[in-house]
Formats: sequence, C-alpha cells, structure tokens
Amino acid sequence: KAKSGNERYLYYSAEMNASIAVRLQLEHDLRTAVSARQFLLYYQPRVDLISGRIVSAEALIRWQHPGRGMVPPVQFIPLAEESGLILPIGAWVIDAVCAQQADWRRRQIKIVPVAINLSAMQVKKHQVLTTIVDALRNNGLEREYVEFELTESVLMDNPEEAAINLRAFKKIGGALALDDFGTGYSSLAYLKRFEFDIVKIDRAFVTEITRSREDAAIATAVIAMAHSLNMRVVAEGVETEAQLRYLRKLRCDEIQGYFFSPPVPALAFEEMLRTDRRL
Ligand code: C2E
Ligand code: CA
Ligand code: CA
Ligand code: CA
Repeated sequence: KAKSGNERYLYYSAEMNASIAVRLQLEHDLRTAVSARQFLLYYQPRVDLISGRIVSAEALIRWQHPGRGMVPPVQFIPLAEESGLILPIGAWVIDAVCAQQADWRRRQIKIVPVAINLSAMQVKKHQVLTTIVDALRNNGLEREYVEFELTESVLMDNPEEAAINLRAFKKIGGALALDDFGTGYSSLAYLKRFEFDIVKIDRAFVTEITRSREDAAIATAVIAMAHSLNMRVVAEGVETEAQLRYLRKLRCDEIQGYFFSPPVPALAFEEMLRTDRRL
C-alpha cells in the first residue's frame, strides 16, 4: 500500500476521478503498460453442478505495476475504456489466452474453454474479429476454446447493430455469455434474440440468496426463464457451501466463486486441470 503524502497515494484512491492530473498520469502509465506488457491473466474456474468438474474458466486481467504491485481491473478498466486503450489491452488478452491454451495443449494438459470479457467498444470495432480469428489460427485452436462475456451495455446504443456483431462472434468463437445479469434493465426474453448461450447471474443476487426472499425469487425466476430459452445459468460470486446447496436446489447449471476457487495465476489453474480437481 502506498504511503500517504506520497503523490502516488491518489493513484489508488476512489477520488481518483476528481483530479485531472492523476487521471493523466494513470493514462500515461497505462500506455506504458501496454507497450511494456505489464499485464497478466488470472483464471477462475467455472464448475458444473452435476459433474462437479471444471468446465470453463474466466480470464481476468491484472496489471503488474513495477514497484506498485498488482493493480485490480476496477482501477484501470474504466479509464482504458474511456481512453480507447481497451482496444490494444483487449487484443493482448485475446492473444494471451490463445497462447496459454496452446501451451497447455502442447504439454498435453486437458484444456477447457476460456471466457474473455469484452467491452462495448471492442464489440463495435470489427478489428477484434480479425484479432480473434488470427489468434486461434496462429495457435492451432478450435474456435470453441474461446468464449466471450458481454454485459447488456453492449446492446444499449444500437441493438440492431449489436445483434449483427454478436452473430459474427458466434461464427468465430464458442459460447456467448451475458455477464452481470440482473444489474441492468433488460428482460431475458428480450436478450434471447441476441443468441446468448449462457446467463451469468450477478454476485449481487447470490450473496444473500439463502437469507433474502427477494434475491432467491429473482434467481429462481432467472434460472427458470433461462432454461425455457435454452440457456445455461452460471451463478457468480459463490462463496459458501450454503449458497452452493441453494443454487443446486434451484437447478442452476454452474458456479464460479471463491468457494471453489478465487481467480489464480496460470500455473495454479494448470494444476487444477492436471489433477482434475472437482467440487
Ligand atoms: P466480472 O467480469 O464480473 O468478473 C468477476 C469479478 O468477480 C472478478 O473481479 C472476480 O475476481 C470477482 N469474483 C469472483 N468470485 C468472487 C467471489 O466469490 N466473491 C467476490 N467478492 N468476488 C468474486 P476482478 O478480477 O477484480 O474483475 C473485475 C471486473 O473487471 C470484471 O468483472 C470485468 O468487468 C473487468 N475485467 C476483468 N478482466 C477484464 C478484461 O480482460 N477485459 C475487460 N474488458 N474487462 C475485464
Ligand atoms: Ca465477466
Ligand atoms: Ca460478472
Ligand atoms: Ca461485473
């Protein structure tokens, strides 16, 4: 943690937005981070509630700042999106995921699909499609080994255009997941026309699921409707066995969260794959 009095203190603080100078500094550092490749990926497994096995993983970016340690994405993704730096950062994520998958495969580790988070700006730029196709081909990977997670913000300003873009993603990659479901305003029935395969119920509804009748009712309704629309349901942020049991009772398909594993470095995730760790 940075000391107070240090000019860099603000760097980590929530009031960051208040200072233009600090913002500019962050943007400058972020540019350097892109060219100096200061990012790395953590992987968080998703486990199937019936088989208990790892069926996928989400790639989550970390910024390994020289001297300042690990910077979490909440502290730089918003600015990356505003500044357009999310495009080179996002391209790095796609390349890094595919290279990692190819490396595991080369070493005969049984791989699972890895889900990549995509920002709205990336989805609008067709460049990202080329990046994905090239990364898969250069690494000799079949398309189903990369999945994509999008929030409904992607659909907001131009749903027609978004529908066309998402169809293109489905052609070149694996499953499409609707991320953070429940935090926006759309209904699942509306969202189904975007051909999502997976709905991820936001952690906000999972945390209190065993205590809050409202949250339990929302989760129940989302699962029922998702199933009737042929989508799989992943519960995010599952931290306790009680939450897991409850979700299993509701016929949720998969869970992701600290209860099974937090996001971990590639080597630790590889170890889970190698030992076929189960729920
Ligand atoms: P997200 O896509 O909703 O990712 C899930 C977040 O929940 C991750 O935070 C993960 O570490 C955290 N999490 C997982 N299980 C639990 C749990 O049981 N309890 C709690 N309290 N938290 C849990 P993280 O890694 O800090 O990422 C935050 C957000 O940053 C992500 O939210 C995503 O929106 C964004 N992000 C991360 N990596 C990327 C990326 O490569 N590209 C883009 N565009 N956005 C990214
Ligand atoms: Ca996500
Ligand atoms: Ca999420
Ligand atoms: Ca989120």
